[in-house]
Amino acid sequence: MNLILLGPPGAGKGTQAEGLAAKHDLVQLSTGAMLRAAVKAGTEVGLKADAVMKKGGLVSDDIVVRIIKDRIAEPDCENGFILDGFPRTLPQAAALEKMLRSAKRRLDAVIELKVDDKVLVERISGRFSCSKCSAGYHDTFKPTKVRGVCDTCGSKDFTRRADDKAETVQARLMAYYKETSPLIGYYFAKGRLETVDGMGSIEQVGADIEAAIENLAG
Ligand code: ADP
Ligand code: ADP
Ligand code: ZN
Repeated sequence: MNLILLGPPGAGKGTQAEGLAAKHDLVQLSTGAMLRAAVKAGTEVGLKADAVMKKGGLVSDDIVVRIIKDRIAEPDCENGFILDGFPRTLPQAAALEKMLRSAKRRLDAVIELKVDDKVLVERISGRFSCSKCSAGYHDTFKPTKVRGVCDTCGSKDFTRRADDKAETVQARLMAYYKETSPLIGYYFAKGRLETVDGMGSIEQVGADIEAAIENLAG
């Protein structure tokens, strides 16, 4: 099964992708995480992406398409993947369609997570993650079970994203509405779109996504 999670920054794409990947034995492909790893490693891609990400803009289509194309071709993706944060523009969606067609694979569902802007800002401002295993948390909505210790790997090291500060969030939301939101119409027209209310609890949203997948796959 190959899925896309679509939605503005902070909507819960990463959180839900984590759960879905474990449940359905799929690989979670987050272009944001891949780009942050490239920045950290100081690769050529990382150097190009860094300035754009800091400003809350979108990294060029060429770069992200190449990253996804290479990653999808790896053997662990054979059982299927969840794209979290890709595609983000119409040209990226067209490129994805081309690569899936030539690999004789299909897109099973595009899940749009709908969340009010005010709530997005709340979610982003409390977001943090484990430095070791990348598990995602929130100060209020999803704290670690034991204070200061990662539920998944026991690490005591956590990070907050540099672009999760208020000034940058505005630009990222703008980029979403301008560049990414047209994909909702694009996938609706293709009959692949299911819209899920992302305002509920993490568990509720997860259950609604499962139901939406059944709808489209069935
Ligand atoms: P995205 O990948 O779409 O940017 P995340 O999955 O990182 O969003 O979620 C943003 C923040 O909101 C995280 O701190 C996460 O723990 C929290 N979060 C995710 N889903 C929910 C939810 N349904 N209710 C409350 N908080 C949530
Ligand atoms: P969020 O989970 O908050 O939506 P991501 O982790 O997906 O954020 O992305 C962080 C940043 O990485 C984006 O603001 C953008 O600069 C860059 N990025 C990630 N994916 C893409 C993409 N598909 N196209 C262009 N830029 C991207
Ligand atoms: Zn961890």
